[in-house]
Amino acid sequence: MELRAVRGMNDILPEEVERWHKLEGAFRLHAELHGYAEVRTPLLEPTELFRHQMGETTDVVEKEMYSFERHGDQLTVRPEGTAGAARAYVEHAVHAKEPVTRWYYLGAMFRGERPAKGRYRQFYQAGCELFGDPGPLCDAETIDLVAGFLQHIGIGDFVVHVNSLGGAGTRERYREALLAHYTPRKGELSEDSQRRLAKNPLRILDSKDQRDHEVSRDAPSILDLLDDADRAHWDGVRRCLDVLGVNYVVDRSLVRGLDYYTRTLFEVKATAGDLGAQSTLAGGGRYDGMVAGLGGPSVPAIGFAMGMERLLTMMPGAPSRRRPGCFLAPLGQAGADRALVLAKQLRALGVPVELDGRGGRLKSMLRRADALGARLCVILGDAEVERGVLQIKDLVAHVQEEIPLEGAARVLADRALEASPGAQRGAR
Ligand code: AMP
Repeated sequence: MELRAVRGMNDILPEEVERWHKLEGAFRLHAELHGYAEVRTPLLEPTELFRHQMGETTDVVEKEMYSFERHGDQLTVRPEGTAGAARAYVEHAVHAKEPVTRWYYLGAMFRGERPAKGRYRQFYQAGCELFGDPGPLCDAETIDLVAGFLQHIGIGDFVVHVNSLGGAGTRERYREALLAHYTPRKGELSEDSQRRLAKNPLRILDSKDQRDHEVSRDAPSILDLLDDADRAHWDGVRRCLDVLGVNYVVDRSLVRGLDYYTRTLFEVKATAGDLGAQSTLAGGGRYDGMVAGLGGPSVPAIGFAMGMERLLTMMPGAPSRRRPGCFLAPLGQAGADRALVLAKQLRALGVPVELDGRGGRLKSMLRRADALGARLCVILGDAEVERGVLQIKDLVAHVQEEIPLEGAARVLADRALEASPGAQRGAR
């Protein structure tokens, strides 16, 4: 029986993981520079959380969630990070501990979408959520954080799209305007959108169906319907973006796929590379109603998530591999026993070591040391042990020398660490 990974879910092999570490490390540093601390929430949440917060008529909730029942609970493997973070924020009454909370997360998300390049069923997001600040200043700072991060990791070809959805009052007026626009042309809409019309006409705007695009082309824009408070917020966001020097375009068609957004919305799209239709690198916005919707107090919030696979496709830099500082090639029983001890001593001194325990011939062990890119190969045969020595072969300088076994770990560590400054001297 041939078993393969689940469609749309990828193995990430060690040679690729190096770049993942780089990206994750850069994100952590960047988020922490902006005052964010990491939060880790469960992969499984009550299905109700997503249904309620993301919206019954969104594509994710209608078609893409991995949901199941276990022990009488309806559970869903998280399709995104925001709802879980907000749930945790309310559950732990974080608002009572501090007025403003900044959390970041990294992790796998699951959506049963049709797989394509840049679109997977298990994918990874890095995101930030900020609770407790209603002002436009932090909307602009959030957008600038994303743009600054992309630049920091070497991605320059992108455009920031910004829009406002207004607050609840504006949304209601917009809903009526959309109903007036779509109802006379209902027959031209896709079946899904005909159904959405009654429930949530806003969702028609981000439908992927070409028929819906046609009818949406001259739909009214929410920016023309903002009330005074929404308008002041929107003007404030754009002013702060200008102060920060963030390049952006106002995109009236941007609604994003989830119901929980209020006021500011943004997406960052790649303008180069081969992501095709999957060019959105990051998306986010304000969700001022979610905390109260989850039974917490009225606390405003804003956040975003970036797709890690898509960032990695755009991020320059070839995969690299960690090399052992020292490769140990034992020959014979006494040599192997001595090599076991030496490997332990070297690791305690912070030297990455690989010990060849296959019991093969010297030639094949040297070939392996070369292939791994080791700087030093230590040859330890029974004869050497008997004489109290070992052979060091420098695989770059192509020289070999004999040193006493006594104190060999220190000598080898000094040489290996000199050769690869990345290794940690005396790590433990
Ligand atoms: P969203 O939560 O839909 O706003 O997604 C935020 C970001 O996550 C997107 O801009 C993408 O970069 C990434 N993303 C969303 N869905 C997928 C997916 N199915 N596969 C890969 N990346 C995704």
